[in-house]
Amino acid sequence: MYEKELHDVLIGEGADLAGFCCLKDVKNAPFPYAVSVAYKLSDSVLKTIDGAPSKMYFQHYRTVNTKLDLIALRAVKFIEKKGFQAFPVAASQSVAGRFYGYFPHKTAAVLSGLGYIGRNCLLITPEYGSKVRLATVLTDMPLSPLSPLKEFDCGGCLACVAACPAGAISGKTPSLSGTREDFFDAEKCSDFMKTFKDVGRGAVCGLCIKACPKNKL
Ligand code: SF4
Ligand code: SF4
Repeated sequence: MYEKELHDVLIGEGADLAGFCCLKDVKNAPFPYAVSVAYKLSDSVLKTIDGAPSKMYFQHYRTVNTKLDLIALRAVKFIEKKGFQAFPVAASQSVAGRFYGYFPHKTAAVLSGLGYIGRNCLLITPEYGSKVRLATVLTDMPLSPLSPLKEFDCGGCLACVAACPAGAISGKTPSLSGTREDFFDAEKCSDFMKTFKDVGRGAVCGLCIKACPKNKL
């Protein structure tokens, strides 16, 4: 009953996409429902990634994470005022083992119908391809998806596999029922990014986003 109102609040706060899902089929989910929020990265900034990570993308990535965290806080405020619990999962964090946040953003986003997981291990949305970042709010407020689940739609494309200098993307088809390690090596990705210390601490790469034809850059 709160979906439309909360969706409008989140879009009003600057989210590009917002959705909701039930987590009853997700093993060990700490709350029964989730809000998923996506913020689109700047096309102009992504174009500065030219064969190597860029300082402009590094700064933009951090700013977008902060914006997402603020949008998530607005969702928390809305939900708590209605008498429910709300737990924000930060846009970027490793708190549940290396490279794992408290709850996987992409699981919430896929179940909310925002997109599917591409071979590059990123959410691919119909509207913006993989040029989005995500935040999640876990809650006991009953919320239903506003959009149907999206089918895997990478087809035979392997552009991100070819573009990744770290060899982190296997090319296998991702599945929510499997693990990330089945198709993506986060350690290789992280190790590669650490070689760009001049770009920034904990640098981000983005070559696989730049290469994805779904982004229409
Ligand atoms: S961010 Fe860079 S290193 Fe990591 S998977 Fe994408 S292309 Fe490979
Ligand atoms: S580059 Fe191709 S295979 Fe990789 S995520 Fe984008 S569409 Fe899928």
